[in-house]
Amino acid sequence: MPAATVIGSGVIGLSSALILQRAGYRVQILTRELPLQTTSVAAGAAWSGSELEGQSRSWAAVTLQHFFKLAAEPASGVTLQRMREVYAHSVADPWYRDLLPFFERISAQDLQPGLVDGYVMDVPMVAPPLYLAYLRDQFLAGGGTLEQRDVSSLAALQAEASLLINCSGVGARELARDPRVYPMRGQTMLIDAPNITLGYMNHERVDHIFPRSDGVLIGGIKRDDDWNRQLDADDSADIIARTSKIEPGIAQARALRQFVGLRPGRDQVRLEAEQLSESCRVIHNYGHGSVGYTLSWGCAEDVLALAKTTEE
Ligand SMILES: Cc1cc2nc3c(=O)[nH]c(=O)nc-3n(C[C@H](O)[C@H](O)[C@H](O)COP(=O)(O)OP(=O)(O)OC[C@H]3O[C@@H](n4cnc5c(N)ncnc54)[C@H](O)[C@@H]3O)c2cc1C
Repeated sequence: MPAATVIGSGVIGLSSALILQRAGYRVQILTRELPLQTTSVAAGAAWSGSELEGQSRSWAAVTLQHFFKLAAEPASGVTLQRMREVYAHSVADPWYRDLLPFFERISAQDLQPGLVDGYVMDVPMVAPPLYLAYLRDQFLAGGGTLEQRDVSSLAALQAEASLLINCSGVGARELARDPRVYPMRGQTMLIDAPNITLGYMNHERVDHIFPRSDGVLIGGIKRDDDWNRQLDADDSADIIARTSKIEPGIAQARALRQFVGLRPGRDQVRLEAEQLSESCRVIHNYGHGSVGYTLSWGCAEDVLALAKTTEE
């Protein structure tokens, strides 16, 4: 049985580990933070294809099919959610329009002042605290092992593993010595607002209202090169102020939980194999920025394809 060691247990590490395990690999995960402590738990997390180009579109399309299947399993924390996506300028129909079960353009009179265009669509919505636990449990039930360990360098693992999968998110800046990786700080708040059933995304303003299976997630913040992982009260107030203008009920809603995460920024995802030594290869899978959930299964499938070439 071939073996693989995955570094990291965010959405990218867990998806990669599961795909390898299902293909017959004996997989262990080594991770500094456990799944529910990662950046991934702070995410929205909507399947969001609008800002994608090139290869990322294929990864997102593959992920979409996985999410459609997961949405049929209530325990996964994935649901199909009706969302508005709005713009202050005109936009063409997106590349993924025909992949969704429901898509319609919003007419001009239904848009708030200052907005010019937008659509309503059904997209997969992930509740990360439920979903990450679900992936972790599937992985453990499949015989995988998960060890909390800080990996000081990839070279430090050469003696104990022949195939490494580097899913270290923003940690790849150090672990892969990659200066192209930088943090994009995010902050979100989960609120109790069962009356809000229609979601909202304005990417330009980072205004997000995501009804999920565990509450309504409001956001957000996107601040490049900010490593602060503490909650910022001004950011919380700003999130409530901005989203209340869209859904006035938000100002009165009870806050359930707040999150901070560092999106792994990079000019492009790094998904490639590197020979570390004669007996050890690493497949890098990091740098997913604001769309790690959207790309997760497509990237994991490419990790498996690369792992198989590595075997030969
Ligand atoms: C506020 C916010 C909203 C978002 N909304 C969305 C959305 O709506 N849709 C979407 O698709 N994406 C969204 N994202 C982006 C998405 O969350 C990220 O792209 C994704 O979580 C990155 O996952 P990852 O597994 O690469 O990184 P992480 O979740 O950061 O996991 C990295 C893992 O590597 C481990 N690690 C790092 N260094 C080491 C080391 N040296 N040794 C051992 N372990 C190490 C960490 O401990 C951790 O377990 C959002 C992100 C944020 C912050």
